Amino acid sequence: MALLQISEPGQSLDPHQRRVAVGIDLGTTHSLVAAVRHGVAECLPAADGRVILPSVVRYLDPALGGSGRQIGHEALSAQVQDPANTVSSVKRLMGRTTAQVSDADKLPYAIADAHGMAVVQTVAGHKTPMEISAEILATLRFRAEDSFDDELYGAVITVPAYFDDAQRQATKDAAQLAGINVLRLINEPTAAAIAYGLDNASEGVYAIYDLGGGTFDISILRLTQGVFEVMATGGDSALGGDDYDQALVAWVLQQQGLASAPSASERAALSAEARRCKEALSDQPAHVVFCASVAGRQVEQIVRPADFEACTAALTARTMTAVRKVLRDAGMTVSEVKGVVMVGGSTRMPVIRRVVADFFGQDPLTNLNPDEVVALGAAIQANALAGNSRDGDLLLLDVTPLSLGVETMGGLVERIVPRNSAIPTALAQDFTTYQDGQTALALHVVQGERDLVADCRSLARFELRGIPPMVAGAARIRVTFTVDADGLLSVTAKEQGSGVEARVDVKPAYGLSDDQIATMLQESFATAQQDIAARALVEARVDADRMAAATRSALQADGGLLTPLEREAIENLIHALAHTAQGDSAAAIEAATEALGKGTEAFAALRMNQGIQKALSGKKLEEV
Ligand code: ADP
Ligand code: MG
Repeated sequence: MALLQISEPGQSLDPHQRRVAVGIDLGTTHSLVAAVRHGVAECLPAADGRVILPSVVRYLDPALGGSGRQIGHEALSAQVQDPANTVSSVKRLMGRTTAQVSDADKLPYAIADAHGMAVVQTVAGHKTPMEISAEILATLRFRAEDSFDDELYGAVITVPAYFDDAQRQATKDAAQLAGINVLRLINEPTAAAIAYGLDNASEGVYAIYDLGGGTFDISILRLTQGVFEVMATGGDSALGGDDYDQALVAWVLQQQGLASAPSASERAALSAEARRCKEALSDQPAHVVFCASVAGRQVEQIVRPADFEACTAALTARTMTAVRKVLRDAGMTVSEVKGVVMVGGSTRMPVIRRVVADFFGQDPLTNLNPDEVVALGAAIQANALAGNSRDGDLLLLDVTPLSLGVETMGGLVERIVPRNSAIPTALAQDFTTYQDGQTALALHVVQGERDLVADCRSLARFELRGIPPMVAGAARIRVTFTVDADGLLSVTAKEQGSGVEARVDVKPAYGLSDDQIATMLQESFATAQQDIAARALVEARVDADRMAAATRSALQADGGLLTPLEREAIENLIHALAHTAQGDSAAAIEAATEALGKGTEAFAALRMNQGIQKALSGKKLEEV
């Protein structure tokens, strides 16, 4: 007879009432699944005992029969023999258009175009990045269900801090294909902070330094009353451990006096050797790089930590530049940072730990496995969201990587959600109509840091119709931007008087690459002065147009109040203003607008008097 399980009061839920909830780190090179068991987060191993699943899927020729595909280690070892049908780094294709996959020619497999989106061409047909990711996710789902012998309730999946709407949506779609209920998407560095239990630490500001194989992410988090807010994120999407390997290859070639470039296969062998050497130097005083044949010669080069650190110093410095910038973005100084978390295999390099410790004036947290820390944090969050933990009220706030706004008159951007705003968030701003009797409003939603719409990225366009006709400026149209916990945006516009409303969910068909985001930010900093000038000019022109139009309609209505000479003087001012507005001096346009304003003061007074008389006529004195 089976024994019945009884739990200690208040200690744990009945195991049969517990929901199986996991955290998944869906990585570029490898993926992991973790769960909280007996109150502790741990990575779940496959049947062979390994926790790491290479993010690689190989498609087999359907004509040969068989299961159709290989996933993980099996696929990885087949990559050399069947590169064209073995898909790795699919994360770089998620939510991207064909045009955005700039290095398609460098990939070992072929990219095809399906309605603008990048898909992979395999012997088994076209595969979307979502389908390929779904294979990896489903493998992890089955692993979790096997370890718990129960169905999966849901998962928290991590994404890079810089993933935009399209990339996040693609990740959710992949999970859906894999039959996974997504409890939430969270940023990778945020998950790492949770893994270290910083939510139970003392309140303050923490920095998460994540150096992986091909990317670098830095985040500044603030913990207040048990709640995390990501104050700012930054980094470099083209900087990681692979670059350290390449720098070492270049140094070895130089030491060996090898001027001629090695062949592709020699370079591949050298890179693998350099990586082994780099990893060995993390806990050994020297290592020898050996290659039997490079450009017709044998290479044997001893490397010491000092050599390695010197030839990679520029890379390490680049990470620290990004750290300084993100601190500036967050409005923080080094002394305000309470703790530093290390994430990613490359943070095992002693030089990284030393430089980070020097910069922050404290030792970073390194006791958790830097490969697992993201999955562990996601598992803790999943457990809380599934209602399994008593501190189920843990709330995570992430940030928007770029500002969101709408187009206003003259092609200017009105920012509504500033960059690095904590999400979820809802922010509103009131707008009005530009013309008398205007019954529709065209809304253009854009993303970016520049002041001119032309320099930002268009996300969506929609129209608000059915506004009751009113004079220009009388309508009150409230535009609300809502960004949900997954970073997805919806925009509503509502005319306050009549209640007419329109809404758009922004699921852009294509995402921005990290590089594009970085470029957009860089441009916005480099051109801030230029943008201010451009904005001033456009604003001056809009004001000038509005003033000229108002004066013209006043002349048409009440021109009879003026002498021909007075009227001519005003017409001359309008003419002068129109002429000045064609030039590109904002100051001159403002001066001309002001001149017209001054020149029509007397006329305005006459009109006002007439208006009062009209209003009073026919009314008895006591009514006034
Ligand atoms: P990603 O998140 O990009 O998949 P990881 O966090 O797994 O990357 O980090 C992979 C990188 O970590 C590789 O460049 C690898 O060479 C590096 N790495 C792993 N172990 C060590 C080590 N002991 N010393 C230095 N670098 C290491
Ligand atoms: Mg990683």
